[in-house]
Amino acid sequence: MKNSTFYSNTIFGVFFIGILLFCSCETKESPDVESFKTVFETSEKKETATYQEGIDFYTKLDKAYSNIQMLGMGDTDSGKSLHLVMYSQEEIFQITDIKKSGKSILLINNAIHPGEADGVEASMMLMRDLAAGKHNGVDMKDVVVAVIPFYNIGGALNRNKHTRANQNGPVEYGFRGNARNYDLNRDFIKCDTKNAKSFSRLFQHLDPDLFIDTHTSNGADYQYILSLLYSQKDKLGGPLSQYQEEKLLPFLFQYMKDNSSEMTPYVNMWGQHVHNPTPNEGFEQFADYPRYSTGYAALFHTIGFMTETHMLKPYDQRVEATHAFLKSTIQFLSENGKELIEHRKKSKEAVKSQNQFAITWETDTTDHKDITFKGYEAEFIDSKVTGKKRLYYNRDKPFSKQVPYYHTFKTKQSVERPTAYIIPQGWHNIIELLEINQVETTRLETDKEFEVTAYHIQSYETSRSPYEGHYFHFNTEISKQEKNITFRAGDYYVPLNQTRNRYIIETLEPQAEDSFFKWNFFDTVLQQKEHYSSYVFEDVAEELLSNNPELKSTFEKKKEQEPAFAENARAQLNFLYKNSPHYEPAFMQYPIFRVE
Ligand SMILES: [Zn+2]
Repeated sequence: MKNSTFYSNTIFGVFFIGILLFCSCETKESPDVESFKTVFETSEKKETATYQEGIDFYTKLDKAYSNIQMLGMGDTDSGKSLHLVMYSQEEIFQITDIKKSGKSILLINNAIHPGEADGVEASMMLMRDLAAGKHNGVDMKDVVVAVIPFYNIGGALNRNKHTRANQNGPVEYGFRGNARNYDLNRDFIKCDTKNAKSFSRLFQHLDPDLFIDTHTSNGADYQYILSLLYSQKDKLGGPLSQYQEEKLLPFLFQYMKDNSSEMTPYVNMWGQHVHNPTPNEGFEQFADYPRYSTGYAALFHTIGFMTETHMLKPYDQRVEATHAFLKSTIQFLSENGKELIEHRKKSKEAVKSQNQFAITWETDTTDHKDITFKGYEAEFIDSKVTGKKRLYYNRDKPFSKQVPYYHTFKTKQSVERPTAYIIPQGWHNIIELLEINQVETTRLETDKEFEVTAYHIQSYETSRSPYEGHYFHFNTEISKQEKNITFRAGDYYVPLNQTRNRYIIETLEPQAEDSFFKWNFFDTVLQQKEHYSSYVFEDVAEELLSNNPELKSTFEKKKEQEPAFAENARAQLNFLYKNSPHYEPAFMQYPIFRVE
């Protein structure tokens, strides 16, 4: 049996051996290319495969070609396992062997939003053609392609004809929410779903050199079939950022132009406001926080893309444009894979000793580049529904002009890299996520005192309506205090000398854009656990004041200066309680500590 130890070189291997094998077999049947038509091809380019049709297609492909392997890669919320299909011309499928031989890895993720099915179909055609040796002369010896056929399996099983209200085909498709109605493209950090945990394990194991997440976009109308969202250069940082901007992106944009699929940077309408509701005067790059696939990939020095085909363009053109883009990245890797791997290595090395880390960002409105944008004139006409003015893109008035594209982000807040964080072992949910993401940790062998910086949560706000299963926190203010704390044997020491430094900092610094604090992991410290009875505490407070002249003077002054305080007995007792040793130290104490 091949490949039953796919994960064996990771510390998680033991959990996976035994569930890996789906349909691999030792002898392959002789390939019959004609029998590998996709649903897209047999339906006159109008339909997309159901989950079962897609899996059956790859099962057959795996049986027929020894350069294809389909694997099971852990659980999803749907109850079905996540699949990964790999193509390797030399039939090398062990990741350590792939890396050792200098081959690059492309990972393609499909159906994160199953209604956006273009990539599902494009990937099937791509893998079939690669398997059959039809790759238009592109040398595939050193490129390994890995495809997740359906990431959101629960959503793919939930087929309908209506939920993509503005989309021009296919006839039927899956639903955006997963089996528990999570949007998986917000779950890469908080990992509420089994899908996200399985994905992270898979991603860390493959350590892909390029990553593509396929989508279909809502938003403004323009001439392009496909827009491309890519890793934000300033967030990617290091030597990789320059390589993306100067070599990779120009190659891909040119390839698409040469193949009749000219594309534009993702037309992000989030930054647009009322007086400029269209992209026709320019637009800003999307802030891809780590909760999103490309933002997550960037934390680990993998350049990520979201292909966003335009909802109003016919389905067949969208599938074909996505297919062309997948091929553009393969050609790039074939020609430049080794160079990209080198740049990733340099980037991984650089982050180990990088001292300042941005944790929040904002668009730099003073820096832009002019790009050619092929749009449609926007007009405001009378609405036949509301009687008010409505936005209308006039397709009879196409234009091509230079517009500003704001693609630089500047640091809003940053932190210095600590020597380490210490995580008390009780926070096993945090430890689990660090382990899944292959963060190196050590456990204290004995109880040990450390001089640490402790954060006190001074204030925060919380969203009023639920977002992805959470009421997240924002505008968090903290204060810092140097403390000596004795940690217990078994607590976790997380050194910040690793390639995963950015992931560690962006999750553990409470003010970071997608921190675990923001996503409610530490809400228990935001609630006071012990209280007091006023009539008993009166006597304690009296003693406290007589033994502590400094506190007494502050207390008296406060009463003089604040009449409301002077009138409020409860507030006064509360003040003294908070300044007494009875007040609990854990309240508002961020439970992860920095060793500077
Ligand atoms: Zn999408």
